[in-house]
Amino acid sequence: MEKIKVEKTASRGIAVAKIYKYGELDLKPVQYKVPADKKKEQLDKFLDARECVRGELEELAASNEIFSAHMEMVMDFTLEDSVTSKINNNSENAETAVSEAISEVAAVFGMMDDEYMKERAADIQDVGKRLMAQLKGIKLPDIGSLDEEAIILAKDLFPSDTVKINTDYVKGIITEEGGVTSHVSIIAKNLGIPTLVGVKGIFNKLNTGDMVCMDASEGVIVLFPEDNITREYEKKKQEFQDEKLRLEKLRDIPVITKDGKKINICINAGNADDIERALPVKMDGTGLFRSELLYMENTHFPTEEEQFEVYKRAAELCPQELTIRTLDIGGDKELPYFDFEKEDNPFLGWRAIRISLDMKDMFKEQLRAILRSSAFGNVRIMFPMIISLEELREAKAVVEECKNELREECKKFCEDIETGIMMETPASVLLAEQLAKESSFFSIGTNDLTQYLLAVDRGNKKIADKYSYFHPAVLSAIKHIINAGHKENIKVGMCGEMAGDIKATEILLDYGLDEFSMSAGSVDYVREKILKIQGII
Ligand code: PEP
Ligand code: MG
Repeated sequence: MEKIKVEKTASRGIAVAKIYKYGELDLKPVQYKVPADKKKEQLDKFLDARECVRGELEELAASNEIFSAHMEMVMDFTLEDSVTSKINNNSENAETAVSEAISEVAAVFGMMDDEYMKERAADIQDVGKRLMAQLKGIKLPDIGSLDEEAIILAKDLFPSDTVKINTDYVKGIITEEGGVTSHVSIIAKNLGIPTLVGVKGIFNKLNTGDMVCMDASEGVIVLFPEDNITREYEKKKQEFQDEKLRLEKLRDIPVITKDGKKINICINAGNADDIERALPVKMDGTGLFRSELLYMENTHFPTEEEQFEVYKRAAELCPQELTIRTLDIGGDKELPYFDFEKEDNPFLGWRAIRISLDMKDMFKEQLRAILRSSAFGNVRIMFPMIISLEELREAKAVVEECKNELREECKKFCEDIETGIMMETPASVLLAEQLAKESSFFSIGTNDLTQYLLAVDRGNKKIADKYSYFHPAVLSAIKHIINAGHKENIKVGMCGEMAGDIKATEILLDYGLDEFSMSAGSVDYVREKILKIQGII
């Protein structure tokens, strides 16, 4: 028996089952130099393989949009250019050229600071895997053919593997690679399959048929468990299921405080799919729609029309409230198609509202798209990183400019759309009273507020113990923001991680917070906590 402690939980839950080791294929290229008169042959080989992969993906795209993105990737001209140049200029054979070109593109994504973009490297590799299998004439294994209960063990699972998962048989997933924002994590969470990712060294420790117990809530894997341990985990599994059912039953209970105030429990989303997936938790709205993901996933600045389609869909899915944060780029978030000048202190540099106000045309395209989407739900505009009244006024003036244009063009939008701000800089805290007079709402961004107030980088592991939103300075700032907002009769929400932390719920309720916005997975727990504090359950 061996017990492994794991850091990254992708999807909570308990599983007890035998391992099904999911294929390690030999997709390494056979390398050789191609004589000049055979280069065309290699080029055609690549183009034929690409055509086959495109066809496969086209079929898959009909049932899952991940594959539409993969289709774009495989047909991307940068990939084609790179492979062509490797064959023509370096005399590489098709297999080698494809393998290198894919690794290079994946490395670009992998090097990005942003976790979400980093994980896109998996999509590129997935496409590469298909291309290599085609070139080598290898049939890819099919997770969908599993016909008995098992925990899948893989080096990494690609998006194309995870969509074939049948929950009747797949009871758990363990991977060596991957992060909590990877496709496997997102899909596993969606399907409710206990999943642990980034478990280094586990692949070679186990074989198909080996017994394993896993607790993906606590981050524990027991290899070759003794009978009493298996029984213990079976019991835990039952308890987890009961708990899940119990929490689900609370979803229809209104969350109202003893003095009759309705507390909004909302989700944070990066795209419309996040909202769609979250609908079963019955949230009161989307308190933070991180619009930058739309920019980061693209190959160009998304046009007004492209943005409008996304925001409209999100508004229709979540008509109660959709708070769209305008582009919050810079800091650790870069765009693959825009050159950010290197800065010594990117977190204190050209980011968020500063960029929007400097690049007015781009800002206007976004605001026009948001405004137009406001005809389809209760859409609100939120400005990130505000440090002064002037910035807020300037941003609101651009909104008015866009409204005038839309009026002239007879395009529909909500005239009374609310414009609020993220409270995430120390300056905004100190100016909270003045800002409240000119904002429709506040949303406290504790992720940045904590780092800026404490001068502690939110991503630096070395000083992670100093990064705490329970620090008295942060708590005092939060209290001050809420009081300042309430003095001007505006609602104050929170969309930083603290809002989803049940250890903070009671303090925040005491301070008078009106809205808690968090990742969808936390909603049930925070709702239960508030209902308990209010004596409703
Ligand atoms: C925050 O800073 O708390 C926040 C919600 O924004 P982000 O994490 O996207 O910076
Ligand atoms: Mg922030």
